[in-house]
Amino acid sequence: MRAIMKKVAGPGLVMEQVKRPTQEDLGPRDVLVKVRRASICGTDVHIYKWDEWSQSRIIPPLITGHEMAGEVVAVGSAVTQVKVGDLVAAETHIPCEHCYQCKTGRMHVCKNLKILGVDTNGIFAEYAIIPETVLWRFSPEIPLDYASVMEPFGNAIHTASVTNLLGKTVLITGAGPIGLMAIQVAKVAGASTVIVSEVDPLRIEMAQENGADVVINPAEKDLVKEVYKLLGDGVDVLLEMSGNRKAFEDGLKCVTMGGEVSVLGIFGGKIDINFDALITMRGLTVYGITGRRMFETWRIADELLRTKKVDLSKVVTHVLPFNEWEKGFELMLNKQCGKVVLNLD
Ligand code: NAD
Ligand code: ZN
Repeated sequence: MRAIMKKVAGPGLVMEQVKRPTQEDLGPRDVLVKVRRASICGTDVHIYKWDEWSQSRIIPPLITGHEMAGEVVAVGSAVTQVKVGDLVAAETHIPCEHCYQCKTGRMHVCKNLKILGVDTNGIFAEYAIIPETVLWRFSPEIPLDYASVMEPFGNAIHTASVTNLLGKTVLITGAGPIGLMAIQVAKVAGASTVIVSEVDPLRIEMAQENGADVVINPAEKDLVKEVYKLLGDGVDVLLEMSGNRKAFEDGLKCVTMGGEVSVLGIFGGKIDINFDALITMRGLTVYGITGRRMFETWRIADELLRTKKVDLSKVVTHVLPFNEWEKGFELMLNKQCGKVVLNLD
């Protein structure tokens, strides 16, 4: 079968023929999935570039990729939750199921967490072995192209659902694929006004297409001034989705006293902010978001897509044949896209 791999330590990925896994390769709770769609995540791009984080974490040879929609073709001897023919997406965070966090309803922050396509072979392949525990049987009404991105969609939902957004004003810093999805999630949740800050021209346009009330380019205008000009009290809630330190600092300044902040963005190291002045003395509540809540977030993602309350047609900008994966990575590297989905059918 074809698989996209990090063959050796160093930049780039290769597509190679590898042995197709069979029933014999499955552990008791493993499932063999025929991958039908796979989408490219920022993490895959980090692995492609072979940045510092990848060098410290990835052990080649490894089949990369973790966002997918597929069909169950074989199950291990102890599998009870899925059967052959089921359509499934996968939670990327593979929990141990026995640590303190797992036992107390917080599997997404499992102490012994393994990440699909990072710590174990992933899904950029025609077939993948995935533990039963992370599979989500999605509603058949959901198109495969959208089911494939349910995992990052879940990030948007998790970040936006830390607080009640009904009638609230929201600032989203960063309109990458997840920020774009968060615009729609905030709207569905009842936010009265969604302001987006974004620097990239294409993504500014996409933020507008996805329903942002106002989009501000902080490279051209002072974000803080603009927000207070629009909303005298600032915003009730900040959803940080840029991973940019300046965007976060300015975003915090835009939050009203006593407001709430939900941080998904990864800054990649220490950030230098005046914590006392920006957070403590202004009485802000800050939530750190990692992954998706298992499986509350998945249920919400499924419902919003099944009932078409959220439309991902303006987020998934490219669906390419699997063999054109290099073009997909190029689009991601140059940010000339929303989500890029690879079609393996
Ligand atoms: P992305 O990198 O595609 O999107 C980030 C966006 O922020 C880009 O469109 C970029 O142009 C914009 N941006 C950069 N500087 C900005 C600035 N100063 N002001 C406003 N916007 C700015 O990433 P994504 O895939 O949409 O993910 C969003 C963030 O969430 C990333 O930081 C990613 O690493 C992180 N992430 C975290 C988790 C988690 O579990 N915590 C999971 C997935 C992704
Ligand atoms: Zn655990």
